[in-house]
Amino acid sequence: MSIKVLPPDLAAKIAAGEVVERPASVVKELVENSIDAGSSQITVEIKAGGVEQIKVIDDGHGIPTEEIAIAFQRHATSKIDSQEQLDAIATLGFRGEALPSIAAVSRTVIITRQPLYPGGCRLELLWGEQVSSGSQGCPLGTSMEVLDLFGNLPARRKFLKSASAETSRIQELVNRYALVFPGIRFQLLVDGKVSFTSPGNGLHREALLAVYGPQAATAMLEVHGEDPDSGYQVDGFAGAPSLTRANRTYMTFFINRRWVQSRMLSFAVEEAYSGLLQMKRYPMAALNINIPYDEVDVNSHPSKREVRFREENRVFSTVQRAVRAVLVADSPVPNLAPPPDSDYPAAVAPSFFPRSAFGDVRNGAGMPEYQGGFRGGPSDAAAPRQDAPPLKVVGQLKLTYIVAEGPGGMFLVDQHAAHERVLFDRIRQKTSEREPQSQPLLEPVSVELSPSQGDTLKSHEESLQDYGFQFEPFGDGSYLLRAVPAICGAGDSAKSLLDVLDMTAFEGLVRQKEDVTAASIACHGAIRAGKSLTEQEMAALLEQLEATPNPHTCPHGRPTMVHFSSTHMEREFGRR
Ligand code: ADP
Ligand code: MG
Repeated sequence: MSIKVLPPDLAAKIAAGEVVERPASVVKELVENSIDAGSSQITVEIKAGGVEQIKVIDDGHGIPTEEIAIAFQRHATSKIDSQEQLDAIATLGFRGEALPSIAAVSRTVIITRQPLYPGGCRLELLWGEQVSSGSQGCPLGTSMEVLDLFGNLPARRKFLKSASAETSRIQELVNRYALVFPGIRFQLLVDGKVSFTSPGNGLHREALLAVYGPQAATAMLEVHGEDPDSGYQVDGFAGAPSLTRANRTYMTFFINRRWVQSRMLSFAVEEAYSGLLQMKRYPMAALNINIPYDEVDVNSHPSKREVRFREENRVFSTVQRAVRAVLVADSPVPNLAPPPDSDYPAAVAPSFFPRSAFGDVRNGAGMPEYQGGFRGGPSDAAAPRQDAPPLKVVGQLKLTYIVAEGPGGMFLVDQHAAHERVLFDRIRQKTSEREPQSQPLLEPVSVELSPSQGDTLKSHEESLQDYGFQFEPFGDGSYLLRAVPAICGAGDSAKSLLDVLDMTAFEGLVRQKEDVTAASIACHGAIRAGKSLTEQEMAALLEQLEATPNPHTCPHGRPTMVHFSSTHMEREFGRR
């Protein structure tokens, strides 16, 4: 075949294929247009999985009568008009491709009215060609109706799933937008019946409730995080570790409230849960990340599903830290062999409840609270501590774990993690009382730092000094070390400093700078795996651990203990 330029209708069909893959992609583009139009109410009606009909009605600012036909031309947009704007896109749409693409593969009817116009107008197109236009009375806003989708592309239609499968994609999509735009009232009608409504009152918590129902919504924690250097912000919800799913589809991400798909972001969330979930289980999350518009390239995918970041690592760590922080703040004792989701017998229910997010919802949800004594965490700080029966030491396993008996079954405690938690709290408390536990060296020691160790030292200088290190510059990347924190012991002091610096540089899990330094010192000073402990030492450690406000995780957020419930053991041994 010789080389020819494709006829326009064929070129349009090919281009449409990129934007309009399936009914849900049409809904996405239309809903995004309605959001960009400043709507406060968006109704989506679908029939037969969207193939027969998709109708999106909004109360946004509408399209002026004289521009309505232009809107269906390729690359026609009111959202950007210069290169500068392309570099910092604040609207969901900007490519000017959705309407022509949708129109090319359907019968499309648009009815729209702007505030200053007395009446509205109507335009109808078939397979991209205008078939009629005229004025029509209508409320303010826009109604876009898409009929007989892919009627002229039978091959594409064959690739669609069943009507119910296409419907559930659309439901999922509307749900996701309802989560991130709680100020918009969304309604979805499937084959004439209302299938979803969001309140649109601006409250995230209520949008969450509408989408996930009371049970899952109750077990979701509110996430707010900010990277102080870049100002990147993460907001939204992450599920308690008890609320797991068998795949990754329950993690939803928005960048500047644009729904995106990103392996990197799911990975950041999964990292935040490390040590808290079983193998092959995935968390639930709905997070919006706000980034300056010019630091994200949204123009890298025809349906704008994927984006590129100028500083991907920073986005990753901002998300991972924000999620980790809420998990650490409210962490339960992980339970080995938890029963199926949302079905906890009282004796093994994790004591995992959001602190503030769902105060009024949680009681109605009927999730039993962990009744055992060994619990704590900042959520309990205001409440009187429960009179916890102490864990009774049974023995030491692999010179690493303390086996103990406690409320509701057996606990395996990681001796290093537990000691880290104890030391961390001791260090943090000492400085809050302005009493650093410092141990002067008999002879000052000169320590040579690598350039990156030097950077870490400079950026954490204040907290290092606060926690008992005393040093001064000694020229050429060297420092003179005069004192170390008391818990570092009498060992090699120079090595203590180097270890702590390396750990501090590596540590990304706890939020504040002081905490990072304190966690590193605690880690350095804590007993290691492999050390044999006497029964008294183990009992003392458990007692100290229990006295800390957050005994269930080490300062890095890893669990200090896991719980084998009596119920689980009885089941395993066929006793119940
Ligand atoms: P884009 O969203 O990339 O600008 P579209 O093809 O989706 O391109 O839409 C073209 C233009 O039509 C938009 O820029 C906007 O001006 C107008 N438009 C589309 N849908 C609506 C709507 N629901 N309300 C108001 N204006 C709309
Ligand atoms: Mg658009």
